[in-house]
Amino acid sequence: MGVDVVVVGAGIAGLSVAEAMLNRGVKVCVIEAKHAGYGATGRSAGIATLQMNDVLDVRLAKKGIDIMDEWKRRYNLYDVLSTTGLLSIDRSESITTNARIFSDADVAYEVMDAKEAMDRWPWLRLDAGDGGDVECIYTKDDVCMDPLLFARIFADRLKDMGVEFVISKADIMSIKVDEKHNNNNHLTLRVDNRDVDADTLILCTGAWTKGISNLYAPINILKVPLIFFKIEHGSDMIVPFSDEINRTYFIPSRAGMLVGADYTTWSVDKAEDALGEVLNWDADPDLSSYIKYIRGLLLSRINLNIHESKVHFGPISITPDGRPIVGRVPGFKNIYILDGLKGYGLARAPALAYMLVEHILDGAEIVGELGSTRFISINDTRLVQGG
Ligand SMILES: Cc1cc2nc3c(=O)[nH]c(=O)nc-3n(C[C@H](O)[C@H](O)[C@H](O)COP(=O)(O)OP(=O)(O)OC[C@H]3O[C@@H](n4cnc5c(N)ncnc54)[C@H](O)[C@@H]3O)c2cc1C
Repeated sequence: MGVDVVVVGAGIAGLSVAEAMLNRGVKVCVIEAKHAGYGATGRSAGIATLQMNDVLDVRLAKKGIDIMDEWKRRYNLYDVLSTTGLLSIDRSESITTNARIFSDADVAYEVMDAKEAMDRWPWLRLDAGDGGDVECIYTKDDVCMDPLLFARIFADRLKDMGVEFVISKADIMSIKVDEKHNNNNHLTLRVDNRDVDADTLILCTGAWTKGISNLYAPINILKVPLIFFKIEHGSDMIVPFSDEINRTYFIPSRAGMLVGADYTTWSVDKAEDALGEVLNWDADPDLSSYIKYIRGLLLSRINLNIHESKVHFGPISITPDGRPIVGRVPGFKNIYILDGLKGYGLARAPALAYMLVEHILDGAEIVGELGSTRFISINDTRLVQGG
């Protein structure tokens, strides 16, 4: 098999990179161990949001959402990517700070008091024990999706456009750089007991990156819970919202269901330790009381009957400074990485993928804070491959 670019991983990062390469006329093959969306992407709550508290992240999310809007048109994804916006409930002081960040990033927003918000969304409750200084900030361009469905359909559309997909675990440790070319510009990767030849390899392996040594990407893994609630009359009328006073978020991202949690995470050793699903938690007192606690916080915000149906867990990958890592793997001329998307990858991944592809094809700079060499100590002796 000979292609220009091999992308490993079909989460939001890998699919975004494949699309960005396809868009530039490059022949791409995506290698995915299980199926598109198998990792964090398909297990996420499904909100590609602008509401982050850092201006670089908000700028990336804005660009990512613009790219998603283009995907809707280019790949007919109107049914799977819905522009819903996101409502954030918070104290006035934090709302003022966030409004400043949105203004700096050129993002449109509306600030409203509790009464205005409840008039607009009659299912919303904002009075119980909040005190007097609760406000809301609404951004209208946030995109909501059933993330597993999106990943599957987007992968199918890319396949229809000529991207090759191989379902197999790539043996990253088997990468061989072609010595004959003398400039390590050609490499082979062992997949399914055969060699895949490519000029460029891009690793988008999310939490699985932790198992790949020597990449200069110190990735840690957190296990993140998500509770599924069935809502009387369905969840379609509910606008995705985050409740920063109670530190929870709830997203209508699966048909008729509202999914959400608080920001609880657990540190784990490997990606597999962060995967799982529980349908009956009666025998687990800790999980039962956690679900009861989240249910109580949700009921303090909505005037609807709810019934929790399951909880699942997924992995997120995080770098020591919490920023994504994007660029060439130090020591290799033609191996690149896009990772460390943390708990907010959906909106930022398309923007980071476009940034990476412009870096690879046109030599454009990667924004300094995101660069792939920032975790290397100057005396590191592992830089043996040159480049
Ligand atoms: C419960 C939960 C809720 C979340 N909610 C949100 C949200 O609402 N909004 C948001 O923006 N973010 C959310 N996130 C975070 C978001 O899911 C991640 O930031 C994002 O999905 C990371 O994408 P990725 O492509 O880097 O990784 P992944 O989606 O994990 O993709 C990595 C892929 O690589 C494959 N792979 C790994 N190693 C190999 C190999 N050797 N060979 C072949 N394939 C391989 C894996 O099978 C996997 O499919 C949430 C995460 C969780 C867990």
